[in-house]
Amino acid sequence: KAKENGKNSFAIFEKENHSNIKKEFDLTNDMILAINNNEFKLFYQPKMEYIDGKVVIVGLEALIRWFHPQKGLIYPDVFIPIAERSGYISNIFLWVLNEVCNQLKKWNSKGKDFNISINFSAQRFGQDNIYTNMSKILENTKIDPKKISIEIDEKYLAKNIETSIEMLNYMKSFGINITIDHFGINYSSLNYLRSLPVNGMKVDMSFINGIGSNTKDEAIIVALIELCKGTDIDIIAEGVETKEQYDFLIAHDLKKMQGYYFYKPMQAEDIEKIPELGFDNSVED
Ligand code: C2E
Ligand code: MG
Ligand code: MG
Repeated sequence: KAKENGKNSFAIFEKENHSNIKKEFDLTNDMILAINNNEFKLFYQPKMEYIDGKVVIVGLEALIRWFHPQKGLIYPDVFIPIAERSGYISNIFLWVLNEVCNQLKKWNSKGKDFNISINFSAQRFGQDNIYTNMSKILENTKIDPKKISIEIDEKYLAKNIETSIEMLNYMKSFGINITIDHFGINYSSLNYLRSLPVNGMKVDMSFINGIGSNTKDEAIIVALIELCKGTDIDIIAEGVETKEQYDFLIAHDLKKMQGYYFYKPMQAEDIEKIPELGFDNSVED
């Protein structure tokens, strides 16, 4: 009887596993067509800073979306891990960089300039001619690399610290800013801070969530703020959703923030409708 059950559960496991593998296989194949079919789209979320008593937009973060012809909108949390496993992530990164540079050019021609951050999955760095292709894109579009920031998920830095340092120094040699994304989730975060050439850290959303309800999260945030004061590292809070969280951060002197409390990620044309940015929307084309 027990043996029979065991066999059944094995069969179920195998079936689920098989359908996941098939799903991933299908998405991987679709992804290869997605760039040419214009199915990827960048959304931009404003990055805020509290300056002289008010909060202003100081930059944008590019966030990718996939409009799949059959499956509809697919979020990056679903397809980025798949792209990482297949290696296709390098193509996505270069597509995003190119798209961001072209968008910046369009905005420059309208008299506007922004600092834009791009999310980067670091594990393929040094492969697929990424360095060469990056410099080509920057050269072709003539975008000042100082306008581009790279956000690297903390989890990739864990794998190989030597390669990470090499990669970050390379990025920095372009003039690109480096921020560690999801800071605090990994146990050796502090070690990275000491050894990596980074400009900033983004305190993970899960800590910001705890403001007002979890005193441990609050204590960690305050400690990180203090820590950054002693270094030249910028600190940014992500996932700020409420006035309570905002007030807490300002009270503790954390002035750079991002989150739904201010703006959600939106398409380039909607960015141009934000009154504060002062785009001339009188002529529609
Ligand atoms: P991330 O870089 O930490 O981006 C922040 C995520 O939180 C975004 O989700 C954003 O839409 C969402 N968010 C922003 N403010 C709030 C808030 O106040 N509350 C809540 N609940 N969420 C907020 P999204 O766009 O789905 O991206 C998820 C993750 O996928 C990103 O996390 C990033 O790691 C990755 N990703 C996005 N675009 C790219 C890309 O172009 N390349 C790579 N490699 N990864 C990307
Ligand atoms: Mg990010
Ligand atoms: Mg983030």
